[in-house]
Amino acid sequence: MRRKRELTFWERLYVPEIIRGTWLTSRHFFRNLFLHTAHRFGLLKGIPAAVTFQYPEQPRPLAPRFRSRHRLTAREEGTPRCVGCMLCETVCPARCITIVAGEHPDPNVEKYPVRFDIDLGVCVYCGYCVEVCPEDAIRMDTNILDVAAYSRDGMKLDIHELMDPALRKPLAECKLKFPHRCAIHGGGERGSWEAVYNQTGSDPAGSDPIRG
Ligand code: SF4
Ligand code: SF4
Repeated sequence: MRRKRELTFWERLYVPEIIRGTWLTSRHFFRNLFLHTAHRFGLLKGIPAAVTFQYPEQPRPLAPRFRSRHRLTAREEGTPRCVGCMLCETVCPARCITIVAGEHPDPNVEKYPVRFDIDLGVCVYCGYCVEVCPEDAIRMDTNILDVAAYSRDGMKLDIHELMDPALRKPLAECKLKFPHRCAIHGGGERGSWEAVYNQTGSDPAGSDPIRG
């Protein structure tokens, strides 16, 4: 058995060891304090000091391929590009996507999501849902990182938040015109295709500029 090493005289004094232990942190602190002060007066600009992002007022720049909170992309008339194929729901390793598909009035578009939920409390941000989508209907490019909530239910995004990433809970007003299961109004069906196409004056059969 290894014998416990005896403390040296300096170690038994305690304070010198504390000073030695905090030396590295203190050295960075005083170096940055000195350099940032010098930079304020236009001096020593060639020597970089540590940079701190004052988050959340000053968000850190994100890489172009960074995977942030999801959104559903929209057609010209404001309806989802999603065709309810369920590929994302099937491929999701966390099983956190729930879709209920409904019939679309445009015969060129087979279905659309009456309901589309993502539970961010379970999502692992793998991006498979984005990669697998044949319609470019779901993206993770909102650059939204603050997905914390006070409850598990608060981590669940529904179709309102996915269609409009600027929305924040508690959701007060439903602006979706197309038929959907509206959690804001108790989960009942809400919206109509007439409201969508009367507003835009477009023909459902020719509503998608990409499909022509
Ligand atoms: S990022 Fe991954 S875990 Fe999250 S919803 Fe998409 S497929 Fe599921
Ligand atoms: S988001 Fe894409 S993959 Fe998911 S159901 Fe809609 S069309 Fe299919």
